[in-house]
Amino acid sequence: MFDLIVVGGGPAGSSAARLAGNLGLETLLLEKEQFPRYKACGGAVTEQALSYLDFDLPAHLREATIFAMRVHYEGRSIEARGENPLAVMVSRSAFDALLLEKARQSGITARMGERVRGLEEKENAVEVFTDQGAYEATFVIVAEGAQGTLQHGIRSRDRKDEYGVCLVAEIQNEGTSQEYPQDAIDIHFGIGGMGYGWVFPHGEYRSVGIGGLASSLHRPRRIMAGFLRDRGFDPNHRMTGHMIPAGGIRRTLASRRILLAGDAAGLLDSFTGEGIAYAIRSGQNAVKVIGDSLSSSGDSEALREYQTICEEEFGANLRYSLLLARLMHRFPGVLFKLLAGSQDVIDNFARVATAQWTYERYLRWLIPRMPKYLLQRQRKAARSAGGNRR
Ligand SMILES: Cc1cc2nc3c(=O)[nH]c(=O)nc-3n(C[C@H](O)[C@H](O)[C@H](O)COP(=O)(O)OP(=O)(O)OC[C@H]3O[C@@H](n4cnc5c(N)ncnc54)[C@H](O)[C@@H]3O)c2cc1C
Repeated sequence: MFDLIVVGGGPAGSSAARLAGNLGLETLLLEKEQFPRYKACGGAVTEQALSYLDFDLPAHLREATIFAMRVHYEGRSIEARGENPLAVMVSRSAFDALLLEKARQSGITARMGERVRGLEEKENAVEVFTDQGAYEATFVIVAEGAQGTLQHGIRSRDRKDEYGVCLVAEIQNEGTSQEYPQDAIDIHFGIGGMGYGWVFPHGEYRSVGIGGLASSLHRPRRIMAGFLRDRGFDPNHRMTGHMIPAGGIRRTLASRRILLAGDAAGLLDSFTGEGIAYAIRSGQNAVKVIGDSLSSSGDSEALREYQTICEEEFGANLRYSLLLARLMHRFPGVLFKLLAGSQDVIDNFARVATAQWTYERYLRWLIPRMPKYLLQRQRKAARSAGGNRR
């Protein structure tokens, strides 16, 4: 009988397990893969995400440090460059292996290559069935990522406009270093209509990918091939697909004894696709609530507190990121043009990306300015058209 079983050894699961071990909880982590394992991801870890870790990320895992964000739309580009890093780039196989090792160092048991097939919640415990046996724990954290199915015992399935699909390729550097510097990430809007594409540097290779809402990104492999071709990469390069939940949607995050964390809980920035920070933090929050519950009356009702903590900590930010993403889908031309066409729009967005500004602050700043920018852009276009005529 364990105090806690954690399903999944990604950032959410490993961060939960590490804290649980440090709190002295009898903890078992079950992961279906052997690590290091591949995980489809851009690998951008923000300073916010790093701030949640209780150790420093070793230098050899930092494949690039990002100071600039370049936004492209319909042949125009704009860059926001700051003095503070926007993110560090990691390979998820190495990053996740480190987080798991840190969890192990806290005294937990991790069983790799063991897939959880089902959960049965009872009055005083949860029974966990795997492809190799069965276990029991007072509480379970489901940190199985976006594509797991255990989460649907707690929260409903997402509709097609509540999750995204992404395709990603890792491409070795071959003479493209001038176009794509090592200290900048490139975001291309308007890919496949309402989707976006990215090129992220990773030292030896680049992560190149596309993403968009499942309801609007049709024939993603074809779009990805076109994106690769247009950027000068091999359109037939091996690509991996993965789901990504839209954050900011009210979802149930806990039952009496089972809590969802990370992508399984749908905690993700809908506009940027950032999920690692929310995964680490939600895993830790889940354990704090479980630890309190175990050390007090063992009151499982206390788990409702988890939903409140997550809501208070990042609920508003995720909702406003969803609002921005939806505005982008409703008025793609306007938003794309704003982001790619006005320096302070992109500079202030960089403040959101570095957690200096909340999305709410950004939107409150942006929305009243939208007509002004459009007006300015129209006047500028009219002037240059007039100039051309003369
Ligand atoms: C293409 C793409 C690009 C992205 N780029 C970024 C980025 O640049 N920056 C960023 O912050 N976020 C990014 N994200 C989001 C980020 O990858 C996720 O938010 C993050 O991985 C969530 O962590 P997690 O621990 O919840 O889930 P995961 O990292 O998915 O880990 C879940 C783990 O659970 C295991 N598992 C699943 N089912 C079972 C089971 N039944 N039994 C046992 N084990 C199981 C899996 O093998 C896996 O190891 C990206 C996502 C995608 C798809």
